[in-house]
Amino acid sequence: MKLIELPYAIDALEPVISAQTLSFHHGKHLQTYVDNLNKLIAGTEYETMPLEQIVSKAPAGPLFNNAGQVLNHNMYFTQFSPNPATAPTGRLAAQIEKQWGSVDAFKAEFEAKGVGLFGSGWVWLQSDASGELSIAQYANADNPVAHGFKPLLTFDVWEHAYYLDYQNRRAAQLKELWKIVEWKVIESRYNP
Ligand code: MN
Repeated sequence: MKLIELPYAIDALEPVISAQTLSFHHGKHLQTYVDNLNKLIAGTEYETMPLEQIVSKAPAGPLFNNAGQVLNHNMYFTQFSPNPATAPTGRLAAQIEKQWGSVDAFKAEFEAKGVGLFGSGWVWLQSDASGELSIAQYANADNPVAHGFKPLLTFDVWEHAYYLDYQNRRAAQLKELWKIVEWKVIESRYNP
């Protein structure tokens, strides 16, 4: 497993996410999860599995935690852009409007679930096999893949994701992140 490359410059997401935060979050935190995962899978049945399959099959413990964190961060970092399409369109937009009434109402519930998650974890927009959407809170390294859902959009609410830029103000960080969410990426995950 290799550390993913960021699809933008290290300072491209400023001021929403600073270059300093990105350099630690991607270059140190994610790198550590990748290194730990590679040590854990070496010489095992997991060594040649795709990442999503490792997450689905790993027992609770260090292997699941490190594989889950690599998957979560890979999807987190690749969903942002400095010049994003700032609203969903097409089938995804229609489904959000059907279930929440508006994109703004969806965003409000997503932020509230991120703020309300106690401790470290992730808030996700996920879909089931029929295309029905839901917002879910997952603790620590857990994620939709481990529960049979398709992962679409995620905000990282571990303190390492925002503390250098926002200190304790998790809600402020979550509100700002919408400015850099690339909805074309979220749509491509929903409509592969
Ligand atoms: Mn993180």
